[in-house]
Amino acid sequence: MVAQPVADGFAGYRQQLVETLQAKGIRDLAVLQAIATVPRHRFVPEAVRHRAYEDSALPIAAGQTISQPWVQARSIQELRLTGKEKVLEVGAGSGYQTALLARVAGNVVAVERVPALATGARQALDELGVRNVAVVVGDGTLGWRSLAPFDAIIVAAASPDVPAPLVEQLKPGGRMVVPIGTMDEQALVRVEKLPDGTLETTPLSDVRFVPLLGQFGFRG
Ligand code: SAH
Repeated sequence: MVAQPVADGFAGYRQQLVETLQAKGIRDLAVLQAIATVPRHRFVPEAVRHRAYEDSALPIAAGQTISQPWVQARSIQELRLTGKEKVLEVGAGSGYQTALLARVAGNVVAVERVPALATGARQALDELGVRNVAVVVGDGTLGWRSLAPFDAIIVAAASPDVPAPLVEQLKPGGRMVVPIGTMDEQALVRVEKLPDGTLETTPLSDVRFVPLLGQFGFRG
């Protein structure tokens, strides 16, 4: 047991998901606590709500997907957050990962290119009373210059390589997690910007994300 469950009838399912993720190697207690408390069923379409607490990706609007919880938990764990950081999320989608980040970081700037998804994410986050996030519409491969630099950056869509503006907008000492590869298969990698500005890249696992479409991603 890592958190007081939220009394909404789904707490038992969330707890099972927490145990599944622990069994798959997620150790960061703040991340597990976020999974135990954020109601994922509020971020998925009605038609797949009964599957909200499976450890699987699910379809959301606009042909996009809410990623597998294990991938999201692993990505956030690798950012090594302490609760104070300013985080940039590229690809807000449903807003679920944004809500997880909001619980384990200081504040979150979440960029989404599809306006309807940004609206839906904002609405779900508002309804849950999540205050420390800004969901903005735009091409997240450009980062979000007016609020940069960031302590951590998480990219939730597949990129051919690490977008240069994101490297620029990461603070020295900062961490980024991004899936790098082709449209069909990628490696999730952690990119650490060392205090002297050099990059250290560590592959984490094989993943499959929807494409990052934009100036420094795949050209849609
Ligand atoms: N983290 C999301 C998963 C979203 S899937 C969740 O928890 O639901 C990836 C998202 O990235 C999609 O919503 C897609 O529209 C968005 N996306 C793709 N290219 C983008 C870009 N250049 N800038 C911002 N968002 C982008």
